[in-house]
Order: sequence, then C-alpha cells, then structure tokens
Amino acid sequence: MTMPKEDATLTAAPVAAAVGLSDVAVRFRSKKRDVTALQDVSLDVRPGEFIAIVGPSGCGKSTLLKLVAGLLKPSSGEVRLGGERVNGPRHDIGYVFQRAALLEWRSARRNILLQAEMRKMPAAQARGRADELIRMTGLGGFEDAYPHELSGGMQQRVALCRALLHEPPVLLMDEPFGALDALTREQMNMELNRIWRETGTTVLLVTHSISEAVYLADRVVVMSPRPGTITELIEVGLPPERAYAETLGRPEFRDATARIRGLLGAAPAHG
Ligand code: ADP
Ligand code: MG
Repeated sequence: MTMPKEDATLTAAPVAAAVGLSDVAVRFRSKKRDVTALQDVSLDVRPGEFIAIVGPSGCGKSTLLKLVAGLLKPSSGEVRLGGERVNGPRHDIGYVFQRAALLEWRSARRNILLQAEMRKMPAAQARGRADELIRMTGLGGFEDAYPHELSGGMQQRVALCRALLHEPPVLLMDEPFGALDALTREQMNMELNRIWRETGTTVLLVTHSISEAVYLADRVVVMSPRPGTITELIEVGLPPERAYAETLGRPEFRDATARIRGLLGAAPAHG
C-alpha cells in the first residue's frame, strides 16, 4: 500500500536549525578571577532568519558569536551549526567586525578575493561571485580603490563582501556599523536588509542600537547584564522587505523598540 502524500510530509524530518544553542554556559577562569560570561543560554535560529542581539556591555554578546564560530568552547551545553555540533573553528560562516580590517596594500577587489585565496576557491568562480557582491553592495566603480581611498561605510561594504564571498549559510556580525556616522549607518541598514533578502543568509547581528536591531531583525534577543542570559526573545513581526522611513513609523517597530528599551532600562529618546 502506498502512503498518502499528507502522511509523507508529516513524517519528514524537521529542518535543522541553522544555529542552535542548548543550555550553554561560558566561564572564564584565571588566577585573579572567575567570570561567568554566559549562563543558561538556549536559542534556535531558523534557516534564513535574521537575529539581532542587544544587551549591556560585557553581557557576553561577542562571546556568543565566538561560540557559534567555534572560536570558543562552551564550559557546558551544546552549540550546533546546521544541525552539527560545533567542535572547532568553522569555515562555513562569515564574520564581520566593527573594524573592517582591510589590507592597506590591496585594492577593494583584492581584499574581497583574499577570502577565496585562503579557501583555495576556484579563481573564476571567486571572481564572478566578487563581481556580483560588488554590484549588490554598491561598490561598483571602486573595485580598484585602496582602503585609504574609501569612506568608512565603503570599507565596511568591502568587509561584508569578503565575509559573503564563499556563500556562508550563516553570517555573524559584531557591531559592524558601530564606528559609522548616523546617516551612513542608516544606509548600511537598508543595504543589509536587501542583501539578507537576496542571499537568504542566516544572520546573527550584535548591535548597541535598538532601532537598528528592530529595523533589521525577525527576532531580537535581549540579554541581561553579566552573567549574560536571554531576558526575552522579541518577535518583531514586520515583513522582510522594509522601506526605511515607513518601517520606523509602523506600530510593530514602535512597540518592539519600546519593549526593548523597557527591558534594558534605557532612556526613551535614544536609538
Ligand atoms: P560583550 O560583547 O557583550 O560586551 P563579551 O562577550 O566580550 O561581552 O564579554 C563577556 C564577559 O566575559 C566580559 O566580562 C569579559 O570581560 C569576559 N571575557 C570575554 N572574553 C574573555 C577571555 N578571553 N578571558 C577572560 N574573560 C573574558
Ligand atoms: Mg562585544
């Protein structure tokens, strides 16, 4: 007897979370002191989801990203990437930091292609992908410029292209726009929203800006002061495509930002 189609879908294996943390704790021990950076952290991130992480300084946000990248081992609990336990540094991620960290003696394009050289990607494929990313991030015309000839926003675009060159399923961003002026930052937010939709990449973004978190994310992780725990997971409830000014005026945006401000005990008027 053949199974009806409906039953086949019911018995299909569930899609593995893109990123999973179960009861994770991180303790740093030294002769002088013991620091519990993270405690009781559990989180399942859906493939293609955009997660923003906010919380006071020192609450373990960077530590959380390092766990996902496999640069740090949890003291207890488990971290998974694409359903597999993370046991060491992972190469199937992209990482963007506050500083673009570009090589001054290489052009924008050759900084992006550094990723391909390190991974020994086929050159033609890497060049094609670099061109696509250069177009997508609005760097067209600046491919041959050197880092000192680029604005801060453009340098971060180069860093983003470099992080996306190998098409990682998961992109980790640690305060990537923290050093940019407010207008450039808004522009980068709009571009990141579009790039996220075009690439389908799962994103974990650490930010100090509540409005940046809500504008970009599907869900916002709000963390407590050290030892960092997840205070609340906020479902933003906005559609994926987000026109900037229109989104900031929407009730979902205002409700989520007000809720997060309340949780963080922040003053009401700040971004
Ligand atoms: P955040 O990114 O939220 O500001 P971090 O994740 O960088 O916080 O750090 C969380 C806590 O763990 C801080 O108190 C920090 O001092 C401590 N910490 C981070 N890395 C180390 C380390 N390698 N050794 C000892 N303590 C660390
Ligand atoms: Mg940090």
